[in-house]
Amino acid sequence: MNALLSKNVWAVGRNYASHAQEMQAEIPDSSTSEPFFFLKAGSCIETDSKISLPAWSADVQHEIEIALWIDENLNFSHISLALDLTARDAQKLAKSKGLPWTLSKSFSGSCPLGPWVSLEEISSFESLTFELIKNNVSVQKGNTQDMIFKPKQLLEYVKSHFPLAPYDVILTGTPQGVAGVKSGDTLSATLQSENHKILTCHWDVI
Ligand code: ZN
Repeated sequence: MNALLSKNVWAVGRNYASHAQEMQAEIPDSSTSEPFFFLKAGSCIETDSKISLPAWSADVQHEIEIALWIDENLNFSHISLALDLTARDAQKLAKSKGLPWTLSKSFSGSCPLGPWVSLEEISSFESLTFELIKNNVSVQKGNTQDMIFKPKQLLEYVKSHFPLAPYDVILTGTPQGVAGVKSGDTLSATLQSENHKILTCHWDVI
């Protein structure tokens, strides 16, 4: 799996109630509303373990998310973890002016991505847990059970509204606990099923 092939990163916003709440945003209801997507350019993907932050933002925040890889048949084939790095100051400004989020979400290096693991090794998306540890402290914990829109619904929505292409990536949203990262921070993340560890990622912020 070569992440450099990836063309588009389709990212859902507010897919965990706990994160929508901390952002003081409305919590979507999957029975009455549709998921809300934004785009990160595929060239934002960074598979190196070093994260460099843009000089123009004073508040780049981590959002740990489950990432899903799209195969030639436009189905999910692999799973990983990604950081949807967000320049929160630029995003707040954009929100206040009603402008797009491109700068805050799609800057160079804004999508550090872990290793891809085949979904054949995972029985289902039910009850996968993931955690982000910053400087040895647990800062974000998520469980796929808490997703408002499930992976299948996200895929259906993207397929029916956007030009989804093979090797694209779907980011499935972040749980609560987003906060700033700064030079010198170390980040590690794990993805687990009920009985085994699926993958681990490690990043150093330089
Ligand atoms: Zn996100």
